[in-house]
Amino acid sequence: MSSPLVEVTGLGRDFKVRAGRFQRVVGRASAVDSVDLTLGSGEILAVLGEPGSGKTTLLRLLVRLLDPTEGSIRFRGTDVTRLSGRDLRTLRCHLQVTFQDPAAVFGSLRLVSEVLLEPFVAQGELAAADVTALLRRVDLDADLAAKTMGEVNPDEAQRIGLARALALEPELIALDEPLASLDKLQRISFSALLRELGGSTRTSFVVSTHRVDHVRDLANRDPSNGVEGRVCVMYSGRLAEIGMAGAVLDQPAHPYTRALISAQSGSRPLTETLEGDVPSAVATPEGCRFHTRCPDAVQRCVGEQPGMRLVSGPGEASPGHEAACIFV
Ligand code: SF4
Repeated sequence: MSSPLVEVTGLGRDFKVRAGRFQRVVGRASAVDSVDLTLGSGEILAVLGEPGSGKTTLLRLLVRLLDPTEGSIRFRGTDVTRLSGRDLRTLRCHLQVTFQDPAAVFGSLRLVSEVLLEPFVAQGELAAADVTALLRRVDLDADLAAKTMGEVNPDEAQRIGLARALALEPELIALDEPLASLDKLQRISFSALLRELGGSTRTSFVVSTHRVDHVRDLANRDPSNGVEGRVCVMYSGRLAEIGMAGAVLDQPAHPYTRALISAQSGSRPLTETLEGDVPSAVATPEGCRFHTRCPDAVQRCVGEQPGMRLVSGPGEASPGHEAACIFV
């Protein structure tokens, strides 16, 4: 079996919490904790979680926009966890990111052509730049190059962000909530584009979202080629469940995944399905982080932090389907 494109072990990131007039450090907030996962070439991995679950921090760690405070990241078998300087800049050509609001990040007055040329300028490879080809790659008209970012619609903005990320032919792109401002047809079309690019270029995509139906758009089995993506569900900085999208969404094993699916399929706020709030990152609970809201919690959950366990249900087990619950 070939080695994975990315292999993450025990990955964690915490942040200093400062307070008072002199901004003294008064504690640490744990945004991501003890995450293990692998990603293959051409794969789509959806990262599902509520605001505050740690999904955006995880994406930034994966593309080395943030340094981890613990654990390791291997890229094509090489440990890249502590790379810096020129080595990190070289690695960044292979790891790209897109943003939820591209116009806000790139500047609403900037021309689309300028935004697309930027990666080539940064790498000193302007001669290789072909704005028209980049726009066509994401199914956009070449005329768009003359517009400003403020003049394009949300679907076009996401595609421009993707085209910019594709410019240097990376092997991994992390997309932060790309579907949040798109309508249903646009989401289906954008998701199909990612699958098509994954198949043709072998680029891998890690995509954050807070919606279960977005995961279905992104990662469910593609009827045209049978390709299916995976999903990992995050809660309070840790993985709650991971597996093929169909297995996780149709046979969820973790109580949190079940609550998310139940709430969103009925269009109800999660607070109507689960009592309480997501724990603060500065005061994460001992034991299972979900025990303060879990409808199935028992005394043991307060003192035991469950690791990921293979899910074996009554039917045929799905390979790689794991959940962090003592009852799995
Ligand atoms: S370990 Fe306990 S608290 Fe955590 S998800 Fe399982 S039942 Fe719920």
